[in-house]
Amino acid sequence: MAESSFRVLMIQLETGESKLIDFGDRAQWLGGSGLAVALYQAYGLPDAPYDDPQQPLIFAIGTLTGYFPLMSKVICGFKSPYHNQYAESHAGGRLALALRFSGCDAVVIRGRAPQPTALGIGTGGAVRLVDVHYLWGEDVFATGKLLRRIFPDDAGHRSMLRIGPAGEKQLGYACINVDTYRHFGRLGAGTVMGSKLLKAIVVGGEAGLQLPGGQAYNKQYAEIHRQVTATNLLQKYHDLGTAENLAPLNAAKALPWRNLQQTSDPAIDGISGETFAAQTLLRQTACAGCPIGCIHIGMLREQFAGDSHFQYREVGYDYEPIFAAGTMLGLTNAGEVLTLLDEVEKLGMDIMSAGVALAWAAEAFSKGVISESETLVPLVFGEVAGFKAAVVHLGTAANEFYRLLGQGTLKAAAAYGGEDYACVLGQEMAGYATGEVFFTAQSLGFRHSHLDAAGYSYDQTQSGKDVEKAVAFLVEDERSRCLLTSCVGCLFARKVYSEPVLAECLQSLGWSEAGGRLDAISREVQQARWRMRLATGYDPRQVPLPRRFSEVKNWKGEIDLPYLQALRGAYAGAIEKLGRPA
Ligand code: SF4
Repeated sequence: MAESSFRVLMIQLETGESKLIDFGDRAQWLGGSGLAVALYQAYGLPDAPYDDPQQPLIFAIGTLTGYFPLMSKVICGFKSPYHNQYAESHAGGRLALALRFSGCDAVVIRGRAPQPTALGIGTGGAVRLVDVHYLWGEDVFATGKLLRRIFPDDAGHRSMLRIGPAGEKQLGYACINVDTYRHFGRLGAGTVMGSKLLKAIVVGGEAGLQLPGGQAYNKQYAEIHRQVTATNLLQKYHDLGTAENLAPLNAAKALPWRNLQQTSDPAIDGISGETFAAQTLLRQTACAGCPIGCIHIGMLREQFAGDSHFQYREVGYDYEPIFAAGTMLGLTNAGEVLTLLDEVEKLGMDIMSAGVALAWAAEAFSKGVISESETLVPLVFGEVAGFKAAVVHLGTAANEFYRLLGQGTLKAAAAYGGEDYACVLGQEMAGYATGEVFFTAQSLGFRHSHLDAAGYSYDQTQSGKDVEKAVAFLVEDERSRCLLTSCVGCLFARKVYSEPVLAECLQSLGWSEAGGRLDAISREVQQARWRMRLATGYDPRQVPLPRRFSEVKNWKGEIDLPYLQALRGAYAGAIEKLGRPA
């Protein structure tokens, strides 16, 4: 089976030099989140800014990658341009398997290329740098088309990462597009690529994957495959997908609308998961190695300006993008939401941050805090044309207003006013107005993500206001997710991959010792991530909570501000404890 250390491909962009090294101990880090933070400890520059050329951009897979279903994610570790602190972003697509077949557990990219460059990674970590200066300025779609010609080999296994103008223009939240429909979305990994003049990365290895002999592995694989495909544990992700949550959250008055001025609207019927499925759904697709296929692709039919012809485009959709480009902007037509998603995709921005930033701009516009002198076009809730134009202005940093908004909503609000209604929880909010525990979890959580811990679920399922119990839940839920993201599995599969099941998976591959101490390993990963976050400047007590969040009313009634403040204080204390130097 795999070696006890990781095989890490080190790449220096100025010189094109590369080497495969043995790094760390699988039984200590497992891979993914653990390996990424261990690599940042070894090669990162905690005190230097995100765009220091020698800051590493890290991609890591896990010990279980390729061996079991849904072990299909990659962890990207980097210093974020959004807050200049250590960050992680996760993506699927074909990248995890492509890295496995290239023979690399991780890639560490340092330096800045002399000109816009595409990086090819092949079998055994073979590296090729291609001058693509003619792609600089091209959008994500045009870049993809040309990359397929530049790297024609291994189309079946190939994984393609690219950035758009937003990454080149150094927005705070440019994403990396992975295989068209997946993303390293949040906190600006695409901006780090842009700062390195790295337009694209194409991974296409052909090494084999040696499966273990004996019955234990086969039995374990068959049982997991059965649970994934023959039970209803994951069925909902394939059917309507996460978009099925729109209508229930709207009914519970927990769906942010029009910059969180409302939490429910009867117009939900125009953009519910059911409507998207009935009116737009073309097909579902999947990350490599996943039999579920939760990626929903809608068909967008648009008339060319000035003539009678139509173009058809395939656009991925999901709960969070519909929230950010739909309800937050007051758009209530599925086709209009797809139009906007397509535009954001082209520019290469994180849709959640871009949508929430534009929602703030629309409210500020309506209040006269900003005008067309800043926005260049009218921004009115429910009117798609203005938002479509604004997406281009935002993604290309068209003027000083959009340049600041592209650094983060609070940065624009600090300059123009309107901080009270900036919907920012550490970064632009995710689509849950469920209450105090979620607002605490996202505002202070490691990735400022709804996926750090299930605070939204806690709000919906737990009654009472026990601060200690809620914070203990957040800490423990984060720990268990650190385990899965070190392996590196899809978080949708967390009901299948319980801790005992992960232990059996590792044991079936010959990692019995690691399988026996998963609790300790995941705690160490959790603590190492927090240590690095604090070492790069994070102070959880300084994260602001804009007034808008205390004005929310949902099915439970008004937000209990003293409870929310007590939760944030206690969770900040727990984070400080987790991040204490070892
Ligand atoms: S469930 Fe969806 S996101 Fe998760 S691995 Fe499968 S296709 Fe990818």
